Amino acid sequence: MATDTTTRHGDRALTCAVLVVGAGPTGMMLAAELTLAGADVIVVERRPDAELESARSRGLHARTIEVFDQRGVADRLLAAGTAMQVQAFAGIPLDISDFPARHPYGLALTQREVERIMSAWIDELGVTIVRRRELQRFASDDAGVDVELSDGTSVRAQYLVGCDGGRSTVRKAAGIEFAGWDATTCWIHAEVEMTERPEFGLRGGGGIGPADDGRVGVTLIEPDVDHDREPTLEDLRAALRRVDGTDHGAHSPRFISRFTDMSRQAVAYRSGRVLLAGDAAHVHAPLGGQGLNLGVQDAVNLGWKLAQVVGGTSPDALLDTYHDERHPVAARVLQNTMAQRAIGAEPSGALRSTIAEILALDDARRHVAGMISGLDIRYDLRGRHPLVGRRMPDLDLVTDAGPVRVYELMRRARPLLLDFEGSCAGDVAGWADRVQRVEARCGEPWELPLVGAVDPPSAVLVRPDGHVAWVGVAGDPELSRALERWFGPAR
Ligand SMILES: Cc1cc2nc3c(=O)[nH]c(=O)nc-3n(C[C@H](O)[C@H](O)[C@H](O)COP(=O)(O)OP(=O)(O)OC[C@H]3O[C@@H](n4cnc5c(N)ncnc54)[C@H](O)[C@@H]3O)c2cc1C
Repeated sequence: MATDTTTRHGDRALTCAVLVVGAGPTGMMLAAELTLAGADVIVVERRPDAELESARSRGLHARTIEVFDQRGVADRLLAAGTAMQVQAFAGIPLDISDFPARHPYGLALTQREVERIMSAWIDELGVTIVRRRELQRFASDDAGVDVELSDGTSVRAQYLVGCDGGRSTVRKAAGIEFAGWDATTCWIHAEVEMTERPEFGLRGGGGIGPADDGRVGVTLIEPDVDHDREPTLEDLRAALRRVDGTDHGAHSPRFISRFTDMSRQAVAYRSGRVLLAGDAAHVHAPLGGQGLNLGVQDAVNLGWKLAQVVGGTSPDALLDTYHDERHPVAARVLQNTMAQRAIGAEPSGALRSTIAEILALDDARRHVAGMISGLDIRYDLRGRHPLVGRRMPDLDLVTDAGPVRVYELMRRARPLLLDFEGSCAGDVAGWADRVQRVEARCGEPWELPLVGAVDPPSAVLVRPDGHVAWVGVAGDPELSRALERWFGPAR
């Protein structure tokens, strides 16, 4: 359990298994995953509350809705936003309504709202958040990490995870190289009131549209990439005049900020007892709306592994699979965002028109939409069956206890063995304390996005992150290898 004591100098001294720095979407998701899996976690966050000044992300993609569904909170998000076809590549819309998935769409919902909902959820889970404090420095040894916070509090943790955004102090202090490309473009981004109503739509390398409380959201390219001061209302007015010939009487900003297309990725997601997730591990232009989604999915990949390591059921080497699985996913997002920027920057529009023609072809649309929505992710988990490494579809099952969806069986973030022939009890006996075995029948066809129909399996082993670790029949020696590899030795 996390402990909280006072030293003889009056400073607080905390201990926990995992210290998460940053309570953005990635840090909150990681804290939830760790807590569900039984690890004791403390989150330190510099912001005083969960309120976000800028709207930032405008939506969630299908795979992120699924991971929230696995934990039973998708309904809250879906009720707060609008389910719609949000996927786009270089501004070219991509429809996924024909994908075989329970949520063949994205969700239009600002990051502000997503963070409010996540914050309420982690409060319910009882996650400890130390607010108004910053991580300042840390030192690692063989057994853990000593962290110093801005108010003098010290924290001793077995592992430290930097979910502290693109300028990550944790990444810099760990000396992890952030390799990639400098910015080529800078956007000014604001929500303001206006005395005249502008025409809403795309232009100026961004666009102008409605925001909360009758305000207007503005995102426009600025002529200079580098700036040595924060943006002002006058900078925003100048950007509006360049594009529309008028500043529409912009006033009373809720916020004004800048972002760029800098594309960088941590060369290692782990250095000993320090790990990185979310924007701390990768930054890129927000084209295609993928950053928050990537971070939440990083957290879902890392949480259960870290919980097993601190809980003593799995060796520390399990954590290396986090980098192996998630680094290539973000590298691909960096690649696609840089490609989208190049298409947007080509002045004649010929490149974009050509890409739009290609994306009108079904296979091309499915390929790119699978990538943007996150539904095509396949980890290399050593298996020949097309399900292995891919996300488990949320099928309707029937059990002796009644009908149930697969994702409803995943609420507690535990490994799941779906036993369709009722013959695997002996195979998982040594892991019965960790792996939930459910005998079920499935009347639905097994279909995967981009793959199509697959043969109904006899049994499927699903990791807590929803990815399939093994498919086969009772008595297959690969099952015990997969169980040991992912969930530790038999007991
Ligand atoms: C204009 C814009 C539009 C975007 N649109 C989309 C979109 O449509 N879809 C999408 O998926 N993504 C989008 N993104 C990207 C998305 O906002 C980020 O990817 C997401 O916020 C990353 O989450 P995170 O938790 O990793 O980091 P952050 O959200 O940056 O959170 C980091 C947290 O760490 C805290 N922190 C930092 N340093 C310390 C410290 N030393 N001590 C304590 N706390 C610290 C910060 O206060 C912050 O709360 C957009 C981004 C921008 C700028």
